[in-house]
Amino acid sequence: MFEVRVEAEFAAAHFLKDYHGKCENLHGHNYRVFAHAKGENLDAGGMLIDFGDLKAALRKVCKVLDHTNLNDLQENGAFVFMQNPSAERIAKYIYEKISLELPDCPLYAVDVFETSTSRARYIAPNCAGNANSTSSTLEENMDDSMWL
Ligand SMILES: [Zn+2]
Repeated sequence: MFEVRVEAEFAAAHFLKDYHGKCENLHGHNYRVFAHAKGENLDAGGMLIDFGDLKAALRKVCKVLDHTNLNDLQENGAFVFMQNPSAERIAKYIYEKISLELPDCPLYAVDVFETSTSRARYIAPNCAGNANSTSSTLEENMDDSMWL
């Protein structure tokens, strides 16, 4: 299994409703974002995904978020984060935007760090359940005695 990761950063303001603590007041973060791709198959050039392509897609979505108040961010007349821009929702949003940009990329997860010690991760919905079926397929192939 191969895995590649690219990263980007953006700065934005947010506050959390329905939450009682420091984060209910408007404040900012320098968000750090990792996008992970994962898969068994390499292309003819020996790559899982071109770092440049994945980084360009990640930077494109980070640019939309950069220097905004995330609570105010709207698309198609709706609040993108339902006015509660948690790191979890930001991670899912970035995952979905990269997936639209790179439909063939085996995107596995997006990490959003609010601080160096606080990270939320969104994992591709089709990845958690596939681990077992992938390994059983490999076992079946091994049992086929293709080597003999
Ligand atoms: Zn915060």
